[in-house]
Amino acid sequence: MTEREQIPMDVVFVGAGPANLAAALHLKKEIARHNELVDKGVRHTAKIGELEIAIVEKGSFVGAHILSGAVMDPIAIRELMPDFIAEGCPVDAVVTEDAFWYLTAKGGINAPIIPPPLKNKGKYIVSLSKVCEWLGEKCEAAGINIFPEFPAAEVLYDENNAVIGIRTGDKGIDKEGKRKPNYEPGVDLLAKVVVLGEGSRGSLAKQVTHRLGLNEGREPQVFSLGVKELWEVPAGNFDEGKVVHTLGFPSDAQTYGGGWIYGLKNNVVSIGYVTGLDYKDPLIDPHAEFQKLKTNPMVAKVLAGGKMIKYGAKTINAGGWYTMPQLYADGVLLVGDCASFLNGQRIKGIHTAMKSGMLAAETIVDAFAHDDFTSETLSNYEHKVTESWIYDELHAVRNFHGAFQKGRWSALVNTGLQFLTGGLAWGFMPKEHHVAGYERMEQLNGDRPAISGELNGVGPTDHLKTTRYQDVPFDKELTFDKVTDVFYGAVAHDEDQPSHLHVLDTNICSTRCAEEYGNPCQRFCPAAVYEMEESPVTGRRELKINFSNCVHCKTCDIADPYQIINWVTPEGGGGPNYKGM
Ligand code: SF4
Repeated sequence: MTEREQIPMDVVFVGAGPANLAAALHLKKEIARHNELVDKGVRHTAKIGELEIAIVEKGSFVGAHILSGAVMDPIAIRELMPDFIAEGCPVDAVVTEDAFWYLTAKGGINAPIIPPPLKNKGKYIVSLSKVCEWLGEKCEAAGINIFPEFPAAEVLYDENNAVIGIRTGDKGIDKEGKRKPNYEPGVDLLAKVVVLGEGSRGSLAKQVTHRLGLNEGREPQVFSLGVKELWEVPAGNFDEGKVVHTLGFPSDAQTYGGGWIYGLKNNVVSIGYVTGLDYKDPLIDPHAEFQKLKTNPMVAKVLAGGKMIKYGAKTINAGGWYTMPQLYADGVLLVGDCASFLNGQRIKGIHTAMKSGMLAAETIVDAFAHDDFTSETLSNYEHKVTESWIYDELHAVRNFHGAFQKGRWSALVNTGLQFLTGGLAWGFMPKEHHVAGYERMEQLNGDRPAISGELNGVGPTDHLKTTRYQDVPFDKELTFDKVTDVFYGAVAHDEDQPSHLHVLDTNICSTRCAEEYGNPCQRFCPAAVYEMEESPVTGRRELKINFSNCVHCKTCDIADPYQIINWVTPEGGGGPNYKGM
């Protein structure tokens, strides 16, 4: 039995992303405001004393694992900090021009009309990693404890299933599972309220949701994977403040996908592509989709003469309102992307994540004022969400992704109707049901056995030669293979630790999955982690996991058709370094 230190806290936030950083900062302010109102006799509850507040973060610093496009709608940060620009919020550019390109393989059109959800003039192009780093400094200045390199590994419950804290991961375990000289057991951080803001497919949010049935009566979550590079381009290629969104090439009409190009200062361009992880064809490779996007002449012209300087990949929750889990249980609240606060139609979630955190903070103030941390008080959080502008925004587009699951044209008709009626049309339309992405993936059918066989014979860096993406040229100037891209993600894990990718039955990989899906993990992972390799012992092709490449995007945990991959937190500090991304 491992002896673990127990550290009593009042509130523990898991994950230093925009939702939790805004929540922690707002909590501090709201406590001060509450006490003032009690002093003035406006509120008739107890004053709240000094609370011990902690934010645990698995990355080596705040912002290390934060990745987004990103054009930020300032509505929430303005509520949090009205003078956020004067306070030093790092902004890369103010959007001055919007464009919408419909692309084909050989060209495209610059659409004369910008779809209203994609109008961004006046909003802010930011590096979300930089914004979080800055918010982290603000939190520390406000007396909030931030613990980087502390992955939250487990949720702690009492005998009635109330959440009472979290356990951080052990350090110093070797790849055989034995203790190394630097072994340190994880600690138990006990809290009256735990706030899970881990981002898309949070590993503790997954545990809690499953154990407490928080998804009951809700639609299954659907996800997308965003793959992004930063480029330095010659002056004149692409204006600072220009925002382009793309539709069409390279995705087919049945596959949810779209791209972006944002002009940052100093001739840096953010370019990326989002692929819905509810695609049907197991041969799709989201990283390759992105590489193909760059071969379109309109896109290639933006990057001509430039060089790629950074790479990253991350999933987003795309389902929206209907896929939002119950947001509370005894002792716990869910905020941000891990609770489905992203607006898929606008491809924006920073503002809704921050606002969800702020509403959670206000709920926590009520809970301390009444000394009640049960669902009875914490359920007010859901009420606050439905009373806020989050509801107005997300409810109006609640059918967006569901319609997309019927194909691009169905989605465009639905979206067009919504615009024409100012959102009223959704009210008359039947609910579009979401299907979990892994359930939509189709098995390789009769006319593809040869491809399945060939796929078994290739590794992660050259598999594209035998898929429908064989026309992607990896010239290492415009297009890059995964291993090269991972290098630009500055990914690092101590190799002498157990793999954090738990595949519950690897026999399925060599047998059923090879036959039925051609081992799609080799394609959906954007970091060349999964590889089918001939075993010298058994002579059959077996799964090899290059876990040190992992960029923590969580795609494998989401998209695996057998749901046998479980992503758990590796040793603290490991993973990508998205500083400035
Ligand atoms: Fe993403 Fe999983 Fe690959 Fe890691 S192993 S990069 S979480 S798909």
